[in-house]
Amino acid sequence: MKIVIVGGGFAGAFLARYLGQRTKNTNIDVVLLSKTNYLLFQPFMIEGIIGDIEIRHLVTPLRTMLDFPNIELRRTKVESVNLDAREVETYSGTVTYDKLVLAPGSETNFFGIPGASDFCHQLKTLNDVLDLRAMILERFELADLEKDLAKQRQILTFTIIGAGPTGVELATGVHDYVYETLARYYKNIHPDSVRIILIEATSHILAGFDKDLVQWAEEKIVSKKIDLKLNSTVEKIEQSTVYLKNGEKIESDIIIWTAGIRASRLLRSLGKPLDRMGRVEVNEWLKIPGHPDVFVLGDAARAIDAKTGKPLPPEAQVALQQAKYVAKLIKKEAENKPLKPFKFVRLGRLASLGSRNAVTQILFFRFRGFWAWFIWRTVYLFRFRGIRNKVRLIFDWTFAFFFDRDITLMR
Ligand SMILES: Cc1cc2nc3c(=O)[nH]c(=O)nc-3n(C[C@H](O)[C@H](O)[C@H](O)COP(=O)(O)OP(=O)(O)OC[C@H]3O[C@@H](n4cnc5c(N)ncnc54)[C@H](O)[C@@H]3O)c2cc1C
Repeated sequence: MKIVIVGGGFAGAFLARYLGQRTKNTNIDVVLLSKTNYLLFQPFMIEGIIGDIEIRHLVTPLRTMLDFPNIELRRTKVESVNLDAREVETYSGTVTYDKLVLAPGSETNFFGIPGASDFCHQLKTLNDVLDLRAMILERFELADLEKDLAKQRQILTFTIIGAGPTGVELATGVHDYVYETLARYYKNIHPDSVRIILIEATSHILAGFDKDLVQWAEEKIVSKKIDLKLNSTVEKIEQSTVYLKNGEKIESDIIIWTAGIRASRLLRSLGKPLDRMGRVEVNEWLKIPGHPDVFVLGDAARAIDAKTGKPLPPEAQVALQQAKYVAKLIKKEAENKPLKPFKFVRLGRLASLGSRNAVTQILFFRFRGFWAWFIWRTVYLFRFRGIRNKVRLIFDWTFAFFFDRDITLMR
C-alpha cells in the first residue's frame, strides 16, 4: 500500500516517522512530499531571531529523521490534488496514491488589510527568521550613523501586530535582545530611540490563557516599556506607517505581522468547502467526509474537538497528536481492525515573556515567572527531535546564558 504525505512539518514528518517505526515489516510504503528537506521547529523561531539559539539548530534534516527502508522523501512542491483520479500534481511530476495525508500547514493571513502583505514582515519560514534577524541588525547599523534623534526613533520603532503567543514572545524577545545585548555595542544610539509597539485588536493579549495569567503577562509587558495598544484595529498600512481605526498613525520602519494564519492555499485545489481560515473539514477519523482514504492533519484541518465542540486550534500539540493517531489508524486499517475516533488531549499552554519569565498552564496547574519559563523551555526541549539536536540546544542556551548573544550581520 502506497501512502503519500504532503508536507514535512510537525504533522507530516512525525506521521512519516511513526509509520517508518511501526510498519517496517509490512507492505506499507510512504512517500513524503515536502517543499523543504528539513523540519522547522517553529516554537523556537523567535529564539533564533534574537540569538538565543543558533538558527542552523532550529531545523532537523528530514532525510536523517526519516531514515527507514519504507520511506522515500521527495523535495518538491505540490501544486494540486485530484481526489477523483487519486493523483497529486507536483513540480516534478504526478504521484498516485492508495492513501493520501494532507499536512501542508498554514500561511500568514493578512485579512485583506490594505498594504499589510506589501509592507509587513511575517514569521512562518526559516527565511523569515533569517530576514528578521538581519533586518534588526541592519536597522541598528543604520540608526548608529544617524545623528537626528527623531529619525533614529523612526528607524528603531518596531511595530508588532497581533498579541497572541507569537506576537508577545516576539515583542519581549526583541526587547531583551535590544536592552541586554545591542544597547551595549551601538554607542551612538540613544536608549529612548528604541520603541517596541504591540498592537492587539481585542481587549486582552494571549487569547486562550487564564485571566489571571493574562493580567500578569500584560503587567510584565508594560513594565518593560513595551507600548501595548489593546482594542486597536489596524485599518491600513503604508510604507513605514501603520494607520489604526481610531485615527492613530504610527511611524515605524519595522512592521511585523503576527495577527493570524490561514490554511495552505493548496487545499483550494480539492474543490471542497473551506472554512473562513481556509481549512478543510474532517470527520472524527481525520478524513475528508466521503473520502475514506484521504486524511487532513495539523493547521490545514478543521477538526472538531469532541470536548468543546469547537475547531481545534493551529498548534504543534494538535498536529503531533493527530500524526500519532493516524499512524495507528493506518496500521489498524491494514490489519482490518477498528480504532476509536481521534480525541485531542490538551496538555497545556505556554508563552515566554522574555527575561526568564513565562506563563504556563499545564493540566490543572498554573505557573508564572521563572518556574513557568523553566517549564516552557523543558517542555519544548523534550519536543525537539533527536539527542544531537537536544544537546545542541542545551549548549546554545548555556552559551547565551554566560556570553553575549551574537550581533554579526551576516550580509
Ligand atoms: C513563530 C511560531 C511559533 C509557534 N509557536 C508554537 C508554540 O509555542 N506551541 C505550539 O503548539 N504551536 C506553535 N506554533 C504553531 C505550530 O508550529 C503549528 O501549529 C504546527 O507547525 C502545525 O503543523 P503542520 O504540520 O500542520 O504545519 P507545518 O509544521 O507548518 O508544516 C507544513 C509543511 O508543509 C510544507 N508545505 C506547505 N505547502 C506545501 C506544498 N504545496 N508542497 C509541499 N510541501 C508543502 C511546508 O513547507 C511545511 O514544511 C508556532 C508557529 C509559529 C509560526
